Amino acid sequence: MMPARVTVLGATGSIGLSTLDVLARHAERYEVFALTAFSRVDELAGLCLRHRPRLAVVADVRAAASLQQRLRDAGLNTEVLYGEQALCEVASAAEVDVVMAAIVGAAGLRPTLAAVQAGKRVLLANKEALVMSGALFMQAVRRHAATLLPIDSEHNAIFQCLPERTGSLEQLGVRRILLTASGGPFREFTLEQMASVTPAQACAHPNWSMGQKISVDSASMMNKGLELIEACWLFDVPPARVEVVVHPQSVIHSMVDYLDGSVLAQLGNPDMRTPIAHALAWPERIDAGVSALDLFRIARLDFQAPDEQRFPCLRLARQAAEQGGTAPALLNAANEVAVAAFLAGRIGFTAIAALIEEVLQREPVAAADDLQQVFAADARARELADAWLVRQAG
Ligand code: NAD
Ligand code: MG
Repeated sequence: MMPARVTVLGATGSIGLSTLDVLARHAERYEVFALTAFSRVDELAGLCLRHRPRLAVVADVRAAASLQQRLRDAGLNTEVLYGEQALCEVASAAEVDVVMAAIVGAAGLRPTLAAVQAGKRVLLANKEALVMSGALFMQAVRRHAATLLPIDSEHNAIFQCLPERTGSLEQLGVRRILLTASGGPFREFTLEQMASVTPAQACAHPNWSMGQKISVDSASMMNKGLELIEACWLFDVPPARVEVVVHPQSVIHSMVDYLDGSVLAQLGNPDMRTPIAHALAWPERIDAGVSALDLFRIARLDFQAPDEQRFPCLRLARQAAEQGGTAPALLNAANEVAVAAFLAGRIGFTAIAALIEEVLQREPVAAADDLQQVFAADARARELADAWLVRQAG
């Protein structure tokens, strides 16, 4: 069998590196076609030397020149490209079979959509892309017969717990989806305590090691809000049928509750290589390098209801999911600005939700029938969020 050719968008990130780890364990099955990064030229050069892709993509011409020089000096003939158009090209090239969409944030939307429109097997980590453009994105999946496989551990778990046949929730006998959440590092904090937490505290997740943006999202529980919206699109369920369950151990990655009273769960150590390996090999199973689950060491599994008073981002996301249209794109863009401002020390942690709420109150929700409308909402939310930051500082 010919090895499948894989493009990894966001190769230098947490998901990108985990993906390359799994790919390298199965050199007979997978070949790396293209690797992309934003600005970390050194890291990307190292990955190119190790995985020998045909193409590499960085953000701009200067980074590209520096990477190209380095690779030539090392005797590698990887071709270096730059910019968003190049990201779209390596995501949709005829030679590519599988695309790992692991760029963080709205920046991943166009390249991820390019992979979908080229009918690829798309491994979706970049949840923000789907949150922003859900209806359009899923329509493109159907129209171009792409194979969309969720990498988010919760959605990968739900995918594994759902039957393989498709159909409405009624036809499948599904009562609800139980989306598990660790609760993050501030699970037990009061709002008062949260007001003075630092970026370092927010990024120190108890169970998962992840990029900075998703770590802050986990701490605010906006990550669970984005995942609620993600689940609605991936599995065609209304928000009311998705229940968030706080489960601090992160061993159950989510569950499906059936009409007959059965609840199916997927369990595993919190290691993203499991969903990555699952989606790469599906419907087969391959080794992910993850150790076997030791239930005796875990000993207990706890569950609690989420607290929307202390985690208002969850409420804002559910509201946006119910509103539809451009509401999720507005929510996502405002959150991206708020998280960057928090990481830069410009605002406190609890201001993240305040900023997002303000943007959602100011900007009316419109239809999101084409990409232009989605990107217009994204730009408008960023403008409003920036204005809020300026007012706050003054
Ligand atoms: P990260 O910050 O570690 O990596 C992000 C990657 O995107 C890097 O390779 C970076 O170079 C690239 N990138 C950033 N901005 C870019 C831009 N403007 N243009 C092009 N490339 C850009 O992030 P991560 O933790 O790997 O997360 C990636 C995505 O996967 C996010 O959408 C996140 O929500 C999702 N996800 C991550 C995890 C996890 O465990 N890390 C779990 C579930 C979902
Ligand atoms: Mg997740």
